[in-house]
Order: sequence, then structure tokens, then C-alpha cells
Amino acid sequence: MLGKVAKKLRIFGFDTEYLANTDDNEIINRFSDRKRIILTRDKQLYKRLTKLNIPSFPIISDNELETLIIIMKESNINYVLSVPNENTRCSLCNKTLDKAQKSSLADIVPKKVFENANIFFKCSICKKVYWDGKHTKELNQIIDKINKEIKQV
Ligand SMILES: [Zn+2]
Repeated sequence: MLGKVAKKLRIFGFDTEYLANTDDNEIINRFSDRKRIILTRDKQLYKRLTKLNIPSFPIISDNELETLIIIMKESNINYVLSVPNENTRCSLCNKTLDKAQKSSLADIVPKKVFENANIFFKCSICKKVYWDGKHTKELNQIIDKINKEIKQV
């Protein structure tokens, strides 16, 4: 489930690394510079990180929306931009995206997408193309729900 959360965080525009099946010691070594906040479901790992003063917090909820809300609150983020935005990252590579010319994508995206979408982005690494459409509409509905919960009155 955290993999899906990580993909959403990237699309929302947050620099997100995702590690699955990684040894605890390797995680600790890799993030000992304290430049990232580590989210983990592993209680033992969380305890070790806390002792080492490595920024982290435990993910307890199994609900994706709830988890995203908790992450924003814990990170002191009180507004998430709708997507795609200029910070949107590739859900696969975590790289920032480049704006793509619609005319260059005629043979790359499905015909229907080409006809209906107006905004296109492309990952510089894996070449995955992103556009505004049904998928972004659904993501923006999730973002609306998150924003309602995290806005500071
Ligand atoms: Zn990519």
C-alpha cells in the first residue's frame, strides 16, 4: 500500500523515494544524512530511527486517503496543488517532468487522449507521458479531500 501512496506523492509533486524489501541497516545508512523523512510500517525500524534522530514517523492506517492526510499533517503541509502541476514527478522514476508539445505526441498517446487532453508532460528518464484527463480528475478529487482536512483555519 505504501507503494501506491508513494506514487501519489510523486504525482502531487513531492520528492519521494520508495524502497521495498530493503534491509533496515541499509535504510539507516542511506538516510543518515537526515535529508528525508522516512515513513515506515515497521515498528522496530521506527524505534531505531527515532533513537538515531533520523526524521521518521510510523504509518499505522491501512486507508490510503487517511495515510496521505497524516503524511501532509506530519510534514506541516497545509495545501496540495492540483495535478498535473509544475512540481509533478514521474510516478515510476521520481524525476521531475518536462512539458511536452501536443503535436509531438500524436503517435505516442492513444487517439482519444490526443483529441481530448490539452496539457502534456513527459518523464525525461522513462519517457512516460502524463496528461490531464479522467485519471487527473480522480486524483484532484482526492487532493480536494486532503486539502479540506489539512487546511489551517
Ligand atoms: Zn519516469
